Amino acid sequence: MKVKSALIGNILTRTTGYLETVSSHSAQPYRGCSLGRSLCGVGCYVRHNHYLTRGQEWGTFLEARENAGESYLENCRAESRWARKHRGSFSIFLSSSTEPFVPQESRCGVTRALLSAMAEAPPDALIIQTHSHLVLDHLCQLQALGERCVLRVQVSIETDREELPGLPAFFSSIDSRFDAARRLREAGIETVVTVSPLLPIRDEEVFFERIAECADAVVLDHFIGGDGSPSGSRTRRTPLPAKMESLHPGSTELSYRDRMVELARRRLPGRVGVGIDGFAGRYLPD
Ligand code: SF4
Repeated sequence: MKVKSALIGNILTRTTGYLETVSSHSAQPYRGCSLGRSLCGVGCYVRHNHYLTRGQEWGTFLEARENAGESYLENCRAESRWARKHRGSFSIFLSSSTEPFVPQESRCGVTRALLSAMAEAPPDALIIQTHSHLVLDHLCQLQALGERCVLRVQVSIETDREELPGLPAFFSSIDSRFDAARRLREAGIETVVTVSPLLPIRDEEVFFERIAECADAVVLDHFIGGDGSPSGSRTRRTPLPAKMESLHPGSTELSYRDRMVELARRRLPGRVGVGIDGFAGRYLPD
């Protein structure tokens, strides 16, 4: 893993496309992602973004934006004015093209500095998206931030299978992510499990029961419609669909997602979101 430092002009990016309905801005403390060679990286839509990868193999590089905190404080005033005028509120999605809690964060401290800056000048809302149990290293910081803005932490748990034979291992085990969700919620932080992208689930009843016990809501997102291409063509270029079909025939179809949504609704009535609506906190009726 090549880790480099870099300076960023403005850590706050105005959202476009599907993210526009979720938040006014996104923030990426890193360029690249050191989880890219783990299981979530196989179907990760960011690996297809040539602007970000600049020709490098996904998961082999990480650029720490060492002035992320300072950049936030320099830019948040103007960006919040723009956001409240044009989007109704100043809300940040952290992060859409990297993992905020990569293992290198303990050394680089970029996300920590950014969260500290947000505590100093809070946005209206902050949505944190993570695949990493290391989010717990920031529990106190998140609790404090939750008192200053609307905070939601979304923990990705795609399946109940700890491994998909033939594919790399997850960076954070399923159990450790369930534990992270539970501890975040116990700390009073709104916590959502995002089953994204939905992978074949072995014991569906138990899986959604576990989610209901540790999260305020659940969001299900299939790679079709969820990978940034109209019909899931990005993911179809990866080994993921073949593996999904071998484990559960039919799981590469939207009908599988719809069946899981109905199961989830029985366990978490009024607390189930689908696709981008779910990421924005808009849930299906009870
Ligand atoms: S943590 Fe997120 S950004 Fe990083 S490889 Fe996994 S899915 Fe992609």
